[in-house]
Amino acid sequence: MRPQIPAGREERNQLDRLLGLIVDPGEQADPVKVQVVGGQDEPPTWLIDRDWRLFARPARELIPGGREIASFDLDDGSTLSASYDGARKSVYLPFSPAEAYVNYVSEAWKAGTQRRGLSARQLQAFYAVKRYIPRRLQIQGRKLLVRRLGLPEFPRWPLDLSVSRLLHFYAYCCLLARGEQAAEFRWFWPGRHEAALILTHDVETAEGLRLAVELADLEESYGYRSSFNLGGWYDADRGVVRELTERGFEIGLHGLRHDRTLFSSRAQFEAQRPRLASLASSLGAEGFRSPATYRVFEWLAELAISYDGSISHSDPFEPQPGGCCSLWPFFIGDVVELPYTLPQDYTLFTLLGHRSPELWLEQADRIVEEHGLIHALSHPDRAYLGNPENRARYREFLVALSERAEIWKPLPRELATWWRLRDGVELDEPRMSRGVIRIGETADEVDFQPPRALEKLRDKRGP
Ligand SMILES: [Zn+2]
Repeated sequence: MRPQIPAGREERNQLDRLLGLIVDPGEQADPVKVQVVGGQDEPPTWLIDRDWRLFARPARELIPGGREIASFDLDDGSTLSASYDGARKSVYLPFSPAEAYVNYVSEAWKAGTQRRGLSARQLQAFYAVKRYIPRRLQIQGRKLLVRRLGLPEFPRWPLDLSVSRLLHFYAYCCLLARGEQAAEFRWFWPGRHEAALILTHDVETAEGLRLAVELADLEESYGYRSSFNLGGWYDADRGVVRELTERGFEIGLHGLRHDRTLFSSRAQFEAQRPRLASLASSLGAEGFRSPATYRVFEWLAELAISYDGSISHSDPFEPQPGGCCSLWPFFIGDVVELPYTLPQDYTLFTLLGHRSPELWLEQADRIVEEHGLIHALSHPDRAYLGNPENRARYREFLVALSERAEIWKPLPRELATWWRLRDGVELDEPRMSRGVIRIGETADEVDFQPPRALEKLRDKRGP
């Protein structure tokens, strides 16, 4: 009999969907005993365990006995414990892991921080005069702002492991409650791939679209295909669009106007949505990146798209700074979010003045270790990768990763399709493989092992 997952997609919470634990049929009747203890009547707050912080409503009821598996410090000076009761085979938590997860990816954690960057009013004033300010002065202004604000404590930049920490901790709790040292789960990527990589570009000008062809040539010569998100504020050369599509590149959507209007009010959003949908269908676009990555989390689910790439993993440098802290895709309604996980080309080379792709490559290595998604966001336009020095740095990045066969390199739309497939109920999909979660004595000892570990395990057991 084939193992099944316990419930339909809608009944599972988002964190369970990311974890993808495989449950055998016999276990179905047994509810997983990972419980939140006590009422959660207070507003969400930060719960801090050493260098890990999560944002959730605290549950303060004390559970006598059991073994403490983690403890969390709160701003009010109190400490709350998570514990395991071996006799009851239950894990008791002072917060809901599913809630903490949603508070990361939806950026609801912002309610617990000071606002960074400019206010809505300041931004509105800026966009009213932007075209009168020379670009050089705009860049200087942003550099000054970066220096004045410094880097935020949360999310960490360039890499934040909060969602990874939560996922590992939650896996530990689930396995403890099941009384297991190891369990199978839906591996993150098809087959034996250890991580995934997608390349997406926002095309800012009609000239940028012509430069896109050069960028496509470069990528193709190293075996890559990428997507180009086009804007509605210039006339897109249909010949170039056709050529890119025929060569296996993808065309996406970068909005109707390059400003914050789409998400500035509900009325604006409603007004632009039908025109966005018709632009998407005329371009054959399935993906979207919001202009300047402005976003209202819930509204992204209402766009006529298959996937979105407007939310950063961690990006304090955007006009709407923030981050979902996740190295994996997630769902906003039926839309798959593919968060970008490397600093943007403009941030790295222009704002921060880096002279090599070293930071990108280090970050890519760290993401492969985490088995996550490497998502590079760059621009073909003159001031970005259209600049020969930046182009050379991008080439170096492509070369370094081109031979890495363990990294899956699909088009963004293929990745979104995969993520839906992995989330589905069918376990006998041929590309679906299983990884192994292994836990040790403490909550710090949790290992997500790729499918080859499972194959080795089965080989050892013999036929
Ligand atoms: Zn843009």
